[in-house]
Amino acid sequence: MLQKILIGILAAALISVCSIWGYTIWQRTQAPPTAVVAQPKPVDLAKADPVIAPVAATMPFEPADGTHFTYSYQPPRDPDLLAMYDMARKIDVLRQLPEIDQLDGWLMLPRPVNYVAAQCDTVNIFYDRDKGDIVLCYEMLELLVRQGLAIAQANGGSARDQLDYLLANLRFLLLHETGHALVDLLDLPTTGREEDAVDQLATTLMLSFVSTDESRGDIARKLQLASNFFLITDDGQHDMARYADEHSVGAQRFFNLQCMVYGSDPGKYPSIVASGRLPAARALRCAQESRRITRNWMRLIEPHIAPRHRMSAEEEQARIEEIERKQAQNRNAADAR
Ligand SMILES: [Zn+2]
Repeated sequence: MLQKILIGILAAALISVCSIWGYTIWQRTQAPPTAVVAQPKPVDLAKADPVIAPVAATMPFEPADGTHFTYSYQPPRDPDLLAMYDMARKIDVLRQLPEIDQLDGWLMLPRPVNYVAAQCDTVNIFYDRDKGDIVLCYEMLELLVRQGLAIAQANGGSARDQLDYLLANLRFLLLHETGHALVDLLDLPTTGREEDAVDQLATTLMLSFVSTDESRGDIARKLQLASNFFLITDDGQHDMARYADEHSVGAQRFFNLQCMVYGSDPGKYPSIVASGRLPAARALRCAQESRRITRNWMRLIEPHIAPRHRMSAEEEQARIEEIERKQAQNRNAADAR
């Protein structure tokens, strides 16, 4: 079971705005969000029915929960995809993704998002606006399994490395599609290409949430695995139709992601530039770029957080300290082994 407790590590980026948890940080500088559930009316005990009044007066106020998602695995028609169907169900891949687990029930949406694994007859993963479904095709799963195996074999890696590659890429790609769903369902404004914007959201969510099971370094490493997908699938042979596509070419998506990770903490990730994964000329402004993107996405999402999940600054700080304490315990336990 994944840790449900995730934290925002956005303090530097969100000094005057908010962290995704930091409702009260937002409140200090902005008008109160409108998505607030009305408080129950006070009961006039003198006038009220003596039997009803004490019960009503003691009813606890329950802030509204957010919209919960659904998850399903559809049997494929093609027997060659049965292995992917079985694996997906066995791992329960749709429920192994921390940020989606966190978003489940956290936002007020007009309808649920349905995560569906299915046969598509093409290699794809997409958001179906009519149904509200995010569809992970077994064909895409098969491609990621093959890529993960090839990379693990080339680098002398293990089955664990292959699984890491698979889950890191599913995590990013499903968050990308979740971004499309949020833009649609919440009517979020985007300018420029939505495809770039939801890449930024996927990266922001992964960089912003850290569970007790993962360090920030772990997350950065998994984002590197996800970014490799864009390089692997970009052969550099682009015709005009490719340039006209709504997606940036793979290499651009790769470098944009490097910039976000490096810019989230340049002092922590100098190897991204030193190793050549990000040219120094682009790296110069990545801290500013990463901070701006993170702030803007948080501003868009924050008004839609369900009342139950809003936190005061004190609660947020206590939660962060608790998770940091557990992270330290986990590290000590790992060192002792
Ligand atoms: Zn997309």
